[in-house]
Amino acid sequence: MKLGLLALCSLVPAFAQSTSFARAAEFCSDPGVDAKPFVEERLAFWQKRLQLTEWNISVVMTPRSALKARTLGGIHWDKDKKLAGISVMDPADYHVACEQMLDDMEFTIVHELIHLELASLPKSEASRSTEEHAVNRIAEALIKLHREPAGRTGQLQ
Ligand SMILES: [Zn+2]
Repeated sequence: MKLGLLALCSLVPAFAQSTSFARAAEFCSDPGVDAKPFVEERLAFWQKRLQLTEWNISVVMTPRSALKARTLGGIHWDKDKKLAGISVMDPADYHVACEQMLDDMEFTIVHELIHLELASLPKSEASRSTEEHAVNRIAEALIKLHREPAGRTGQLQ
């Protein structure tokens, strides 16, 4: 059986306007915040929304030293087994406010799930940075829509 293993990076841009996300705020009110349940909840939410529920996806909090340089996460998958593993940088290696950390972690989840959506597309060294760029833009748009639904302001931007 062929193992479709592909590790991709996630260069996460800091959100210009880091929306105070209600759930994140709730988690951050606890001084000994455990990010794992938050991340798993967000994974379940976005996995469903992106219709990737046939996949069995796990998240592993990963020390920065175990991630590829200049990345905050990564994903590998086995297409035949429908198994995927997402790495999210360990909270110990984040040096930002708790809510911003959780925002970033959610972004990493969405980013990596979009890579999974694109798993069937052909890949090459040349397509990698173009894919990174597109995946970042799509992830940003999805999260923005989720956090600031157009209906709330009646404006489509
Ligand atoms: Zn990526």
